[in-house]
Amino acid sequence: MHLLRSMLPIVLATLVFPTGTAIGFEKKAHGEISKKAVSIYRAINPGLSEKRAKALLGFIEGSKDEDNISMQRMFHWHFYDPAKKLGRTWWGAERSNGVRFEKLVKQLSESKGMSPDEYYALAGRIVHHIQDMSSPPHTVPVYHLKDPFDSYGTSRINRITLQQGRIPVLMNESRGTLKDRLPEFLKYAADKTLESIEKPVVHQGKIIADNWSLFWLKAQQTGERCRKKPCKGFGCYGKMVFGFTKGPFIQEVYQDFYDHQIENAVADTVKVLLLLGNVEI
Ligand SMILES: [Zn+2]
Repeated sequence: MHLLRSMLPIVLATLVFPTGTAIGFEKKAHGEISKKAVSIYRAINPGLSEKRAKALLGFIEGSKDEDNISMQRMFHWHFYDPAKKLGRTWWGAERSNGVRFEKLVKQLSESKGMSPDEYYALAGRIVHHIQDMSSPPHTVPVYHLKDPFDSYGTSRINRITLQQGRIPVLMNESRGTLKDRLPEFLKYAADKTLESIEKPVVHQGKIIADNWSLFWLKAQQTGERCRKKPCKGFGCYGKMVFGFTKGPFIQEVYQDFYDHQIENAVADTVKVLLLLGNVEI
């Protein structure tokens, strides 16, 4: 019995995260988004201290590490759930990212005796959750183990740039305390994604669909339009699968939407870096 109990987490981990399964943006995507954001941040701040510049490498790693297969990960899923409807699984895992995010923010704002490397690695774990909010299946949320959106254009992320004029806006928004601002950044990122999927899908000046509900439906839109019965509190998948060409939904349409969401994730990450830059390390 004792052996069984000690094996249970491993058994569960295998059940919950079968080998090769990415939950959320694949880890590599988090790394690429953070790398891009760090290079933009460094271009804005050419005179960074050596210790901060070094700690930024830990920030990139931290944003990937939050998805490492571990007990912690098994007990904390990464779905957005501001109304606290998702609850826990039968083994006690929090389906929502709320509890974990709050805990990490508290740790960072009360950081006592942490080295700059530890500090930025922890901040990287926080930014992971903010980045996840640019992924519609996380934010809607739709219960999934692997959504094609999350790995769609990972190899192209390093080519994505921020639109001109965006940096002064980000600098302006990155003021205040970590405790207040980080939860606001998470909500802002999620709201932006929810707005994006409600907007008409436009390609070469023509509206090709009223919105992205052919792909992801919010909990309140579920019902007969769902391909499968949704899990409680979750939305569901619509008729189409992201990345699969059909009618006007050609690859370019997907690419534009993916790039737009990734650009937001990069901007959100730069914003966090600017906010951290105000803290003495
Ligand atoms: Zn995640």
